[in-house]
Amino acid sequence: MNRINDEQSLLTYAPEPDVSSSTSSFPPWKLMIVDDEPDVHAITRSVLEDFRFENRGFSFVDAYSAAEAIRLVQEHQDTAIMLLDVVMENEHAGLDVVRYIREELQNRFLRIILRTGQPGQAPEHEIITQYDINDYKLKSMLTVQSLDTSMISALRSYRDLCLIDQQRQALEQALEEAKIAQKARFQFLANMGHELRTPLHGIISLAEILLRTPITGQQHDYLQRIKHAGWSLTDVLNNILELSEIVEGRLILKESPFSLHTIITEVMKTLKIQAQWKQIGLTYQIAENVPDMVIGDMQRLKQVLMNLLINALKYTLEGQIHLNISCGETQSHNLLFTIHDTGIGIAKDKHQQIFEPFELGEDALTKRFAGAGLGLTISKEIIDKMQGRIWLESEPNQGSTFYFSIVLKPV
Ligand code: ADP
Repeated sequence: MNRINDEQSLLTYAPEPDVSSSTSSFPPWKLMIVDDEPDVHAITRSVLEDFRFENRGFSFVDAYSAAEAIRLVQEHQDTAIMLLDVVMENEHAGLDVVRYIREELQNRFLRIILRTGQPGQAPEHEIITQYDINDYKLKSMLTVQSLDTSMISALRSYRDLCLIDQQRQALEQALEEAKIAQKARFQFLANMGHELRTPLHGIISLAEILLRTPITGQQHDYLQRIKHAGWSLTDVLNNILELSEIVEGRLILKESPFSLHTIITEVMKTLKIQAQWKQIGLTYQIAENVPDMVIGDMQRLKQVLMNLLINALKYTLEGQIHLNISCGETQSHNLLFTIHDTGIGIAKDKHQQIFEPFELGEDALTKRFAGAGLGLTISKEIIDKMQGRIWLESEPNQGSTFYFSIVLKPV
């Protein structure tokens, strides 16, 4: 991980300055001494009085019992190190503080150094393995040298943990902002989509009316093209509207019993004419152990199958398309759908990208096929919602195989 070279960056996670206890111009590190013996407090303070790490000294917080430590640690959540006695109100008082900090407060940053005067009461190996502490020391080790080493190594790891956390928070915020921006983008597109749909339907309807009037062959051809372009645009608008709903978390699966065999034959029947027209073979196979009746969202499954098969047809110029459905050996209906084609294929560096909105496998400048790059995004969202997985294997000019696996409930 990145070490800090720049003192300024340290200030971003530094605790509030406490001028009364440090003469440094940088805010001090907070150190909590927890011990029922006032002498231990006094000696520790005097030993660490001149301590400096990265130009910062210590500000001290004193607790004389476990109960007081628990109260103070809530008030001083930015404490970097706690020097903690074990035996205070009772024999395990210090260990209770450790448990409180790690489990109740969920504070994993505070470096806890256990210090005991009676090692027999709290054997080192047992304690360090059972409790989430960072070091174990004997009270007799109160010399400048031994404390200095412990303090520096504890502060280094505290500082690094704070930095990692800061980076994590920055990433989370960036992700959140990106999600908000994406939502806004889709909201804008959805609004535009609604506005465009009405005039578009007008154009398609008028083209249809004109087609029924006496016209020349060429005019008929032009009108057919207008109609075709109109429907393609409607598809894009529908996909944008659908994706904007999904992005807003409005995709709700409807579960009901259905026959897998029936929907596969329906899908195949729908695409057969298109395949015949392109002179491409379209076949399918359902493994024997695939159940017929299952419970799930039939419409959404059909939509994903259609998207993948229409793509296979679109991006295949000659050869075969084959759909295979198999089932895992377990009791649950763990289904694997495989759509293989002998089409143009997709470069490896695009395999992840094409599942993102508006991402195409082809270069925009040399694009040969029409498409907005939304079908795979919608399919992935649906499969994710079904808690399944979708992926592909493909290379340019070697065809593509798209896979998706889902678990459907038995009837
Ligand atoms: P569209 O096909 O409308 O562009 P998709 O989201 O369905 O949008 O697909 C994204 C991109 O993935 C496509 O533009 C295409 O480049 C590539 N692609 C998808 N399926 C295939 C396939 N079977 N063979 C080759 N390329 C494909």
